[in-house]
Amino acid sequence: MPGQRRKVSDPGGPPQTKGTGHSMQKARVGFIGLGAMGAGMAANLIRAGFPVTVHNRTREREEPLAELGAERAGSPAEAAADADIAITIVSDVPDVKEVICGPDGVLGGIRTGQVVIDMSTIGPKAAREIAESCGQAGVRFLDAPVSGGPSGAADGTMSIMVGGGEDAFRQALPVLEAMGKTIVHFGPAGAGQAVKLVNQVFCVANFAGVAEGLLLADRLGLDREAVIPALAGGAAGSWMLAHLGPKMVAREFEGGFKVDLQAKDLRLVLESAGELGLPMPLTRVVLQFLKSIQARGHGDWGTQSAITAYEEMAGPGGV
Ligand code: NAP
Repeated sequence: MPGQRRKVSDPGGPPQTKGTGHSMQKARVGFIGLGAMGAGMAANLIRAGFPVTVHNRTREREEPLAELGAERAGSPAEAAADADIAITIVSDVPDVKEVICGPDGVLGGIRTGQVVIDMSTIGPKAAREIAESCGQAGVRFLDAPVSGGPSGAADGTMSIMVGGGEDAFRQALPVLEAMGKTIVHFGPAGAGQAVKLVNQVFCVANFAGVAEGLLLADRLGLDREAVIPALAGGAAGSWMLAHLGPKMVAREFEGGFKVDLQAKDLRLVLESAGELGLPMPLTRVVLQFLKSIQARGHGDWGTQSAITAYEEMAGPGGV
């Protein structure tokens, strides 16, 4: 997809804060969705000095953010009402549409000229539809999906891939910089989501390879705890081998990026690829592994549990 690119290291000179007379005031942020990702992201905004109002469907999840200094709101509309920038990060397409366009959604509270940023993974088509609804309501929309996992969200090192108008991007950049390390504006609405889908394809091929290799190592009788660091520095080294490999060996399947969310992302990949007539064989295979984990009732496990799908297929002694 064609589009402009701007790295955070070269922001192009937009004002970093909103000027009011001589005092520079930070943008007010309404933040909706305090899950594994959103909680850490909202905390970083508060620590960076932004005035933040949070809302989460399960209200107790607002409490740790309130302790850090956030105000609490009873609905997405209320969280967005006084905000210059409203951020959403929830689960899937219907959820994002509900919290932005639904009866108590962000658009019910927001004023003309504000910026709505969705940071969930929802694919380019849904992002363009929501951008249109926002445009009709007189507000600007950015799709800004993220990569880096809950740890990247907590320590502010995420990559953020942005689609939407240049002026909205410039206005949002200081806020995005408080949450991420690498921020790239790729072009119009949907462009950030398109890049995120590519990211997900890179990821799945990688973690599935680690799972397959570690099962082979096990059946060869190797000490897998020794194998991982021995190979991590060579051509086989990857974030997935370093981070998920040890969890696969230790059988730590709780935590990390949920199988349900990864399966949702691959569904979005296949929807986009289907429109382009692309076969995506690797993505289809890995999606089947994830579905087999969901069928066993473990959709809330992390993607490191992919190794259990290989084990099921191989049986105790292999096939
Ligand atoms: P999560 O821990 O499952 O949290 C989901 C959040 O969305 C919760 O706050 C949940 O509220 C809220 N939510 C879901 N449906 C809702 C609805 N219909 N109305 C209102 N709130 C709703 O998910 P996550 O890991 O933070 O992921 C959030 C998004 O970021 C997803 O699109 C995911 O694909 C993407 N992402 C995740 C990761 C990762 O490693 N986890 C990395 C990159 C991108 P409740 O608390 O009430 O359930």
